[in-house]
Amino acid sequence: MVIDLHLHTVASDGRSTPAELVDLAAAGGLSVMAVTDHDTVASCREVKEAARARGIEAISGIEITAVDSRRDVHMLGYFFDIDDPALLAFLTGQRQTRIARVERISRRLNELGMPVDLSPFLTAATARRQSIGRPQVADAMVAAGHAVSRRDAFQRWLGAGRAAFIEREGATPESVIEIVHAAHGVISLAHPGRTGLADQRIRQLVAAGLDALEVYHSDHDPDTVTRYAALADRLGTLRSGGSDFHGDPSYPLTVGSVSLPSEHWERLRTAAGRHR
Ligand code: AMP
Ligand code: MN
Ligand code: MN
Ligand code: MN
Repeated sequence: MVIDLHLHTVASDGRSTPAELVDLAAAGGLSVMAVTDHDTVASCREVKEAARARGIEAISGIEITAVDSRRDVHMLGYFFDIDDPALLAFLTGQRQTRIARVERISRRLNELGMPVDLSPFLTAATARRQSIGRPQVADAMVAAGHAVSRRDAFQRWLGAGRAAFIEREGATPESVIEIVHAAHGVISLAHPGRTGLADQRIRQLVAAGLDALEVYHSDHDPDTVTRYAALADRLGTLRSGGSDFHGDPSYPLTVGSVSLPSEHWERLRTAAGRHR
C-alpha cells in the first residue's frame, strides 16, 4: 500500500491542480492520500471527490505554520472537519498574515533593486482562499529574471538570514494543537528532521496533545527516520509520513515517493476515531 499524507496543490505553493494531483496519485498507485496545503483547505473537497472516483481514499489535511522561539514550526492536521468555523476563521487570519509578510518582502526586494509583480498571487489569495508565501515570491523573482529557480531565490534572497528575509509572527504550536483538536482532527509535527526542534520541546508538545511525528519525509535520510521513529516510540506518539510533493522542478520528487507504513496508518486512523 502506498500512503502519502503530505502533498501540495495550487491552493498553496504546489504546482498541481487538485485533479492533476489525483492523476499523479493514481499513476503512483496510491491507496490513501492527504492534500496538506499551507494554511488553507481550499483543495480538500475537490481532491476528496476526484480521489474517490479513482478508488483512492483521501482524508482531510492541512499544514499549518506555527512559530516557536522565532522558528517556523510546520504542523500537519488530519481527519478534521473542513467546515469547522473556528478552524476556518483561524486559517483566514493565517493567510492574512502571509499576505502582509509577502507585501513586506516585496517592498524589501524593491529596495534591493529587484521589483516583482505579485498582483496575480494577491488577487488569488483573497478571491480563492489560496495561501501565498515565499515560494510565490520566488516564482515572481524567476519571472522577472532575478533568480533561476525557487531553490536559487531561497538560497540567495528569501531564506532565513538572507537580505530579503522578513521575520514572521504567528500562533504557538500549543494553540495550533488546540484548534485542530477542537475540529476533531489529529496533529503531527511536520518534518522534525528539517525543523530541528529540541527533543525536550517535542516532549512538551506531546504533553500538550501532539498526536504524531512525521517520521517519514523526503528530507529524512534513513538515520533521521530511525531517530524520529525511536523518539515517537519513547514519547508514545503515532507516526505520519509523506513526500511533501510540490511539483517544484528544482526538487525532483514524485507523489508516493515516501509512504507511511500501513500499520502506522491504521494506528493514526484509529486515534482519529477517538477524537470524534
Ligand atoms: P513560507 O510559507 O512563506 O514560509 O515559505 C515556506 C515554503 O517555502 C515551504 O513550505 C517550502 O515549500 C518552500 N521552501 C522552503 N525552502 C525552500 C528552498 N530552499 N527551495 C524551494 N522552496 C523552499
Ligand atoms: Mn511548501
Ligand atoms: Mn513544511
Ligand atoms: Mn509541506
